[in-house]
Amino acid sequence: MRDDRMSGANLAHGPHALSIPGPSMAPERVLRAMHRPSPNIYQGALIDMTHSLIPDLKRVARTEHNATIYIGNGHAAWEACLANTHARGDLVLIPRTGSFADGWATMAEGLGLRVEMMDFGNRTPVDAAAVGARLREDKGHEIRSVLMVHVDTASSVRSDLAALRREIDAAGHPALLQADCIASMACDRFEMDAWGVDVAITGCQKGLMTPPGLCFVFYNDRADRARERADCVTGWWDWRPRTNPEVYFRYFNGTAPTHHLYGLREALDMIHEEGIEAVWARHAALARGVWAALSAWEAEGGLEMNVRDAAHRSHAVTSVRLPGEGTNLRDWCEREFGLTLGIGLGMAPPGTPEWHGFFRIGHMGHVSGHTVMGTLGTIEAGLSALGVPHGEGGLTAAARALAAG
Ligand SMILES: *Cc1c(COP(=O)(O)O)cnc(C)c1O
Repeated sequence: MRDDRMSGANLAHGPHALSIPGPSMAPERVLRAMHRPSPNIYQGALIDMTHSLIPDLKRVARTEHNATIYIGNGHAAWEACLANTHARGDLVLIPRTGSFADGWATMAEGLGLRVEMMDFGNRTPVDAAAVGARLREDKGHEIRSVLMVHVDTASSVRSDLAALRREIDAAGHPALLQADCIASMACDRFEMDAWGVDVAITGCQKGLMTPPGLCFVFYNDRADRARERADCVTGWWDWRPRTNPEVYFRYFNGTAPTHHLYGLREALDMIHEEGIEAVWARHAALARGVWAALSAWEAEGGLEMNVRDAAHRSHAVTSVRLPGEGTNLRDWCEREFGLTLGIGLGMAPPGTPEWHGFFRIGHMGHVSGHTVMGTLGTIEAGLSALGVPHGEGGLTAAARALAAG
């Protein structure tokens, strides 16, 4: 441990925190709910509690349709939704706004699907009209699904799912709309049914505030009809027996993730006690505080937010360009103040000097005014210590924005 300060004091002792875009900070309440002896998995409280998760998950996704829980991370959710809706050789269209679309595409190719990517770069949202134009060209309806990442966690671009649905309908195209809401769910407003999303996926470790290990697939009856012709789904991934299990162990096709379920139960209680609308409003207000600080710091040109137009920025994560110093800043904040910031992802090739020119601030899940101010204060200390040119008044701007709500 290096000591830069004159006093020699080490300010990284005391509570350590993560401000990364997943996993997010698990609340004490969630951790305490998980800290218990192994429960009976054959009958009783665990079984009743598992049933109770389903309606509460659907309330978060704003759907009346189906919800399925898998043991797995977000990558598992990518595979789960594709395996249940496609036959080998199917064509899927992926509008891209950052590297998470690339990951989903790789998963699709691995399952034997054909992928057509429409690249909208790393800084601007999906142009729904352009996707609509592509669908109109597809007279034979070869495209079976449009796979859209709602919030790309690498670029922090948020795209408009409702607009994309309108374009699909206007084109008279039957493709399913599948949405990756892993970064956005319970952070950015998401309305599965009202927006006409057929399949939505998420994980438990971001807005849902539970340690990594569970993922969720929400799907409507149209998507379930596509299940009829799916030919790469194995028994383990099949969503049908999981959604309506005849016996408890079918929920998970094996041993239940007992402690994670207790953690998730508590996290859903927290979300519904606050109210999903209030959860979204909190994330929006905290994001405005983050952007206020960054806008002030940007004035000297040493750094800039990746997404220029606030209307297209995620409320869960903010990607920042800090040429030459991104890795140094992350290292400094970790070493000197005990705060872990997110690495840049997919913005420059790994191993190049450019790769080190980014960082990300996670402001998702169990975050409040004071945690966000702590993160921003740490970043400002790091910018000063490293001599990064930055405008004055970032913390004041953030405090004012947060105080104003
Ligand atoms: C985190 C994330 C993933 C991947 O989730 P893992 O749990 O890391 O597999 C996929 N898509 C988006 C948008 C994400 O934010």
